[in-house]
Amino acid sequence: MTDIAKDGEIDSAVYKTLLESTQAIPWKIDWQTMRFAYIGPQIESLLGWPPASWASVEDWAARIHAEDRERVVNYCVAQSKAGVDHEADYRALTPDGRHVWIRDVVHVVRNEDGGVDSLVGFMFDISERKKTEEQLTVLQKELEALSFKDGLTGVANRRMFDSVLELEWANARRNNQPLSLIMLDIDYFKQYNDHYGHLQGDACLKRVAQVLSSAATRARDLVARFGGEEFVLVLPETNEHSAAKIAERCRSLIFKEQIPHEKSRASQILTVSLGVGTVTPGHRDEPLGFIAEVDSRLYQAKQRGRNGIVNGD
Ligand code: GH3
Ligand code: MG
Ligand code: MG
Repeated sequence: MTDIAKDGEIDSAVYKTLLESTQAIPWKIDWQTMRFAYIGPQIESLLGWPPASWASVEDWAARIHAEDRERVVNYCVAQSKAGVDHEADYRALTPDGRHVWIRDVVHVVRNEDGGVDSLVGFMFDISERKKTEEQLTVLQKELEALSFKDGLTGVANRRMFDSVLELEWANARRNNQPLSLIMLDIDYFKQYNDHYGHLQGDACLKRVAQVLSSAATRARDLVARFGGEEFVLVLPETNEHSAAKIAERCRSLIFKEQIPHEKSRASQILTVSLGVGTVTPGHRDEPLGFIAEVDSRLYQAKQRGRNGIVNGD
């Protein structure tokens, strides 16, 4: 008997030491009075509020970030009333106005007749985890943006073009609307690179991309780098007549830049060739067939001497 009692005493001392030396902060709330029966002394080093200042659940609620308070308090009260163990993540406030991300894990203790006797729980400091999560979200967003963007010119890349065309194709078919496509290729760009060097070639591609972005002004218009020195414009709800005007605007805006191109056989200035097409997609039409059609017009523009536009007429 004596031994067992003695062991019992040792055990409770050990438990107390264990409880008060863990990273997690233990606490107990009496359900009748809604007051703290206990809170681990570690709370002071984590949040800065001394243990004695944690008197009632109001103190707890008041020290939750205003944006989290209602959600967390409502949830915890409802779960506790229902007698359900639960956990909640929230920002706990410090006396100097900072906050610490906490995960509160709560166990509901019942009395003999099944009613709620008390709540016991642990508060865990999850600020490191939250910081990592936030950094991951930022990285994820950057990655998403990057994976749809051409690294050199900053306009949409081929993948984005494919996705947008598919989407606009379905839209145009559903709404029986025209959809136009302009494909554009720089004339004698190989000679440009050979003569001015690859770096200046890169700079030239950036400039052309910028000019094209200024030529297509509607919110849903898309300028994308199709590959190499080829660009493509997707123009939703745009008929032949408007598409022809935009193509001419692209051609003349690039010409107006007056980018020297001594080795071009079309002109001493950098020029482009363009193919233009418009479709109101029917059920049997496919985007690939349409792209091939517009591409063949671009090819014709090259054949006809470059610095020109070929459309459906
Ligand atoms: P055409 O008038 O028939 O279009 O002739 P072209 O010389 O423009 O066409 P070609 O397809 O023979 O050459 C395209 C050139 O574009 C070759 C390639 O080195 C260059 N190019 C492709 N991508 C890049 C790039 O990212 N940067 C640079 N600087 N050049 C590129
Ligand atoms: Mg070319
Ligand atoms: Mg080309």
